[in-house]
Amino acid sequence: MNSGFQFSIVVPCFNEEGNIRPLYQSLVNTLGKYEKFEILIVDDGSQDESVAAIKQLRSNDQRVKCISLSRNFGHQAAVKAGLDHATGDFAITMDADLQHPPEVIDQMIEKWKEGSQIVYTRRKNNRSYAPLKRILTYLFYKIISWLAAVKIEEGAADFRLIDRKVIDLIRPLNDNFLFLRGLLPWMGFSTSTVFFAISDRYSGKTKYTFRKMVRLAINGITSFSIKPLRLSMLTGLILSVLSFLYAIYAIYAKFYDERVVEGWTSVLVAVLFIGGMQLIMIGIIGEYLGKLFIQSKGRQAYIIKEMII
Ligand code: UDP
Ligand code: MG
Repeated sequence: MNSGFQFSIVVPCFNEEGNIRPLYQSLVNTLGKYEKFEILIVDDGSQDESVAAIKQLRSNDQRVKCISLSRNFGHQAAVKAGLDHATGDFAITMDADLQHPPEVIDQMIEKWKEGSQIVYTRRKNNRSYAPLKRILTYLFYKIISWLAAVKIEEGAADFRLIDRKVIDLIRPLNDNFLFLRGLLPWMGFSTSTVFFAISDRYSGKTKYTFRKMVRLAINGITSFSIKPLRLSMLTGLILSVLSFLYAIYAIYAKFYDERVVEGWTSVLVAVLFIGGMQLIMIGIIGEYLGKLFIQSKGRQAYIIKEMII
């Protein structure tokens, strides 16, 4: 059967030695009817036997390709590296841990054929994640949807189809703080969504540590919106007005109230509160300034150590 198109499966992988072969098997089983595709696995500086596992697959099947990064650059950078080197008419990005079922790819390709340039997927259930992670994710999406100008759906997964046209637009971006979940909706295009039931991780533990999650959340917010800066200005303004009113009261009390020394508590509370507020505001500004600083160096978002394509 001649399907007339070719596509790339892009899989970021960080210490996934136990998942690579099962993922490959399940991909090959479900994609058997498609004539031309490549499985581009981006090793994000794994310290286990992931690269060896990829190379072994490659020796039997030339459709498997491997890009090995020089160190752990993070999930978003790994996906970007894969997209930059994907050759298909579209690419499908998915996790290595089999949480993203390959069976859904058929539906995604159907949507692509119908003209969608980006096909998102959304989790139908969230149960395979720990309750704390679920609560944090929920809060994060609430906050980011409120802060950012684009709508980012809760439960949106990093499992999506991206058309060549969109890939070519993303490729020249050299963003050290890439946040695809925000960038793609911002780009527009005709999109559609496919729902899927998320499975449990096949092997190993999550590679998204709490730290990495917090970083991604802060990146998502501060690389997509300057609302926090405006908010900090607004808060500062409100606090100044309140402080001014309080100052008037304090002066009044000094002259007309005999119990002045008693004001110690309120002064302390006010000073601590305003001091804390100021530190938070400076922190927000610092986050943006730091981003500018790093981006202004113009460093690569990732460095490739080895490429077997
Ligand atoms: N990943 C990566 N670099 C990292 C962290 C994760 O390439 O620094 C990959 C990981 O190998 C997996 C995908 O990103 O293929 C999603 O990670 P994970 O499944 O650990 O996240 P979770 O599903 O728990 O949110
Ligand atoms: Mg996972």
